[in-house]
Amino acid sequence: MVFRQLFDPASSTLTYLLADDRGNAVIIDPVIEHVEEYLSLLGSLKQTLRMVLDTHVHADHITGSKKLKQHTCATTVIAKNCGAPGYDRLLADNDTLAFGTETIRVIATPGHTPGSLCFLWRDRLFTGDTLMINACGRTDFQQGSSVELYRSITRKLFVLPDETLVYPAHDYKGRRVSSIGEEKGLNTRIAGKTEQEFVRIMDNLNLATPERIHEAVPANLLGGGET
Ligand code: FE
Repeated sequence: MVFRQLFDPASSTLTYLLADDRGNAVIIDPVIEHVEEYLSLLGSLKQTLRMVLDTHVHADHITGSKKLKQHTCATTVIAKNCGAPGYDRLLADNDTLAFGTETIRVIATPGHTPGSLCFLWRDRLFTGDTLMINACGRTDFQQGSSVELYRSITRKLFVLPDETLVYPAHDYKGRRVSSIGEEKGLNTRIAGKTEQEFVRIMDNLNLATPERIHEAVPANLLGGGET
């Protein structure tokens, strides 16, 4: 097994490369500006990219999915509920993704966006912007819903084993990994909170709109623009 966590400082995006022992690789949440870097990493590890997964339609950076596909034989994958026409395969809850000798389970976690997914691989959960380290994705645009996010996190993620590792799509404070047990006990937005309390917290975040949202969302619906 091969596992790499990569970071885009401009958007604080965390991208993941997973592979089996036979050179079959998957990339989760690639950033378009780093595609050359991913391709050279795949080359040096002697891996073939089979799939590119996006956890949702990102608003803060442009995905490298389509560009990676153009340089490899990879299939691009996202949730059906994202309404994104630029992808090869559209996922639903509980789907299974196979690559080489490995499998990934798809967990639909609407809330940050209606099409947000988490991907469970071995003991690792790639949470996108659903559950972040002592945080969670915002719900104030892209048809977000705090009620749905609360239910997704508490009913679909917090029921996983405590030792499951949590790898989010972003962290702005230099943190890189957490666990279900840690987030269930310590996440200040949701740990021990009722649905009503969580909604109140989310309603009062007062966050600025992402700078690139008007460029990123239309491009990402197409898998990363027309490049
Ligand atoms: Fe997001």
